[in-house]
Amino acid sequence: MIENQIEIAVQIIRNGGLVAFPTETVYGLGANAFNPLAVAKIFELKERPSFDPLIVHVASIDDLHALTENADRNVIRLAEKFWPGPLTIVLLKSKLVPDIVTSGLNTVGIRMPDNDIALKLIRAANCPIAAPSANKFGQLSPVSAEHVKKQLPNVDYVLDGGNTSVGIESTIVSIEGNVCSLLRPGVITIADIENALPNTFIFNSEKPEKLIAPGLLKSHYSPVKPLYIICNKAFCFPEASGFILHGGKDFIHKESKIIYTSHTFNYLEIAANLFSALHAMEDDEHIKQIFIEPVTEVGLGIAIMDRIKKASYKYQLA
Ligand code: AMP
Ligand code: MG
Repeated sequence: MIENQIEIAVQIIRNGGLVAFPTETVYGLGANAFNPLAVAKIFELKERPSFDPLIVHVASIDDLHALTENADRNVIRLAEKFWPGPLTIVLLKSKLVPDIVTSGLNTVGIRMPDNDIALKLIRAANCPIAAPSANKFGQLSPVSAEHVKKQLPNVDYVLDGGNTSVGIESTIVSIEGNVCSLLRPGVITIADIENALPNTFIFNSEKPEKLIAPGLLKSHYSPVKPLYIICNKAFCFPEASGFILHGGKDFIHKESKIIYTSHTFNYLEIAANLFSALHAMEDDEHIKQIFIEPVTEVGLGIAIMDRIKKASYKYQLA
């Protein structure tokens, strides 16, 4: 019974422990956001650098008022349109939020996940839950309980909610006055925000320079094997290669392992299956290197290529 599992997880959170839990994006590694010692354990277990801030997960839009200083009417409207959902909003933090959660920044990233287990956990624990992705720093994001256990076998507890539905991390925007800056692309695009709230925000595509956070680094989300973006289908691919394709029908390499994230370049399907495909290739001992098909960088394709480029950053075909 998932209710019993949630009850166990709540006790662990209350006692300052760590619980991995499903959201609609990826699995999170959660602690009571108001308990700095518990939050410190997240950085330790993930081997995450202390300069990389955590996202605070809430179960109600009202929590924005207690946790932030500038949740004005437009911010509330933004949350009402997209929460629960894969949109993290970065705002000026209130004194209630411990510095360790935000890596000393005066801002905090907040979101309300669209997942029943996550929402029940946050409500029953009766505190906001600070949670980054439940993986080792820099490695593949987890989209199933098995992926979490592979990378974090020592986590106190894993709530198993099956595979996540969205499959890539939340869109992150920061809001300062009426300026909305995209800090990380995701399934919710700037165009979605513009359409939902016309004439509300001025969009800034320049990432703030002072903000150094790994979600913004060039290399991140990487498998432990070489990953290359396929740029030339006539390339002489070595043996023991794995291919991750999204619908490219003209490309079939007989002796190799092929995983399709989609057969029709459906971007929602590709996002949902991307990390599972990478994990499956990583786990297959016969595969020595992975080749992945690119997608066109429009709409959700921007977020998909963001993850693919970061995951393959160390490896480029000549
Ligand atoms: P993860 O949950 O593992 O995807 O990591 C959370 C990401 O959220 C970080 O790497 C940052 O890029 C971003 N983030 C969280 N809080 C803030 C903040 N206050 N300002 C800017 N970015 C943030
Ligand atoms: Mg992460």
